[in-house]
Amino acid sequence: MHPLAPILLSNPQAVAAANVDCLVIGSGTSGVTTAIELAHQGLKVAIIEAGPLILTEHVGSGPFANRGDVVPRIHDLVRYRTLWTTEAELASARAGTAETNNNAWALVGGRTVFWGGCTPRFRDEDFAEWPFDADEIRPWYERAERLVGMSGGGDAPPFMTHPAQERLMARMASAGVPAINAPLGVDTRAVHGGRLSLGFDSSVSRLLRCQHFGRIEDGARLSLAAETEALELVLDGDRVRAVRVQERDKTVFDIPARHVVLAGGCVQSTRLALASGLGERDPTVGRYMGDHLFRQAVFELPESLGEKSLYIFVPPTAERPFHAQLQGMFQETWYSPLHATCWLDGDGGGRYVLFYCFGISKAQEAARMVLVGDGRTRTGYCIVNDRSPSDSSTLAEMATFTADVARAMGGEVVRTEENSAGSALHEFGGLRMGNDPETSVTDSDGRFWRIRNLSGADAALWPHQGSANSYLTITAVALRNARRLATAMGEAGRETSAR
Ligand SMILES: Cc1cc2nc3c(=O)[nH]c(=O)nc-3n(C[C@H](O)[C@H](O)[C@H](O)COP(=O)(O)OP(=O)(O)OC[C@H]3O[C@@H](n4cnc5c(N)ncnc54)[C@H](O)[C@@H]3O)c2cc1C
Repeated sequence: MHPLAPILLSNPQAVAAANVDCLVIGSGTSGVTTAIELAHQGLKVAIIEAGPLILTEHVGSGPFANRGDVVPRIHDLVRYRTLWTTEAELASARAGTAETNNNAWALVGGRTVFWGGCTPRFRDEDFAEWPFDADEIRPWYERAERLVGMSGGGDAPPFMTHPAQERLMARMASAGVPAINAPLGVDTRAVHGGRLSLGFDSSVSRLLRCQHFGRIEDGARLSLAAETEALELVLDGDRVRAVRVQERDKTVFDIPARHVVLAGGCVQSTRLALASGLGERDPTVGRYMGDHLFRQAVFELPESLGEKSLYIFVPPTAERPFHAQLQGMFQETWYSPLHATCWLDGDGGGRYVLFYCFGISKAQEAARMVLVGDGRTRTGYCIVNDRSPSDSSTLAEMATFTADVARAMGGEVVRTEENSAGSALHEFGGLRMGNDPETSVTDSDGRFWRIRNLSGADAALWPHQGSANSYLTITAVALRNARRLATAMGEAGRETSAR
């Protein structure tokens, strides 16, 4: 247990006794953003998190930023393996004989403790299949960008910029590949007047900074119980009566709440809904699940740039449904999620840059979660995701583009590879929002059509995706939905007390 636990963490039994307004399942950016917004609006909110508290800020904001030997071992404390498969391989996944091929994390702060920081907005047209349009989400993007301390796009200076990066971007532009400074969730505002940089955004540090946060035993409006895993939603007609949880010592009990928000990350929120029998009430639960199309490469440049770190972004276009990110310099290496942060600290003498393309994968009904066994453990599922014809053609375009960009930089492709579904860690779908209860699981505010005191906050709600990395859009949608939920709960509370 973390030494600060007695000061920061609440006993889950005390959360059960408090009968909170809102119980949020998961402490990543979707859960913490939701919980803070609800607490700001005057509601009593508790978060339950399956994993332990291990760090109080992003791993790259502290002493480990360039410890490529230590950071993977920190991941290993809280990482587990999962499975994405194809229709053809499903039988072995069901039988439990398939090799796991992807990573997932369970800890206070969720993946926000390790994420790589690059997070642009979706383009307006990316909202075409959503129940609301880009104008609706724009003010929430602005708020989300202020929250996460975005740099590289607006007023705050880019996190990485130097003459060598400018030269490289100019070389790319002249070869027809327009590039910009990467939009990063890293606070670059001046350290001044007693204000320190907030570093990389992470939901754990955002939660700990919130003035409403404390122990529920001490009367705090916003609290968190760690190592408390939601096993099942206990349903009573069209309502959730309680959330059945298991605490660290394996004790199982129920936590009641007026309203429950699923924020376990796209995959785990969907699994919990299916494991609680929601798929029997609504066949769309667990469907339309996807992840970015993902190609990576290492380029060798003709000479070392003589500067440590660059981070360049090539935006998508109407014709090209994917973007590219370039990061370096290195003495040749290869993208691994366990190094996403250490690699920000490049090597001035290196000649290699990392290149990755993330592209839109078409949402398909057949791409779905299948529970394995009773589905009640965090690994009790697999995701079936076959490439659609449009996915395959986007992946082929990415391969051509990879070679084009290397050439534009005056370099060569040393190695390149197409990564499998699930590896981009930008999953979406499973509890899709919509305006029609026959074709969507949740309404345009992320509230379940068939269970009125249950909603979602993470990318499980997304009907589709843009090429942009997920973090900012998850945060913006969570903010919007939380504000609308608080308004609805306030109105419902006033009606009850008037009766
Ligand atoms: C190494 C790495 C690099 C990344 N780089 C980028 C990047 O550069 N840009 C970008 O935009 N995104 C990036 N991402 C992805 C980004 O971090 C995620 O999309 C985002 O953080 C997801 O937030 P979330 O709240 O939806 O879920 P998560 O962060 O996954 O948080 C969900 C939390 O809920 C908990 N939980 C789940 N089920 C239960 C349950 N039943 N009971 C209790 N608790 C539960 C989990 O333990 C977890 O802690 C990266 C991710 C990783 C791992």
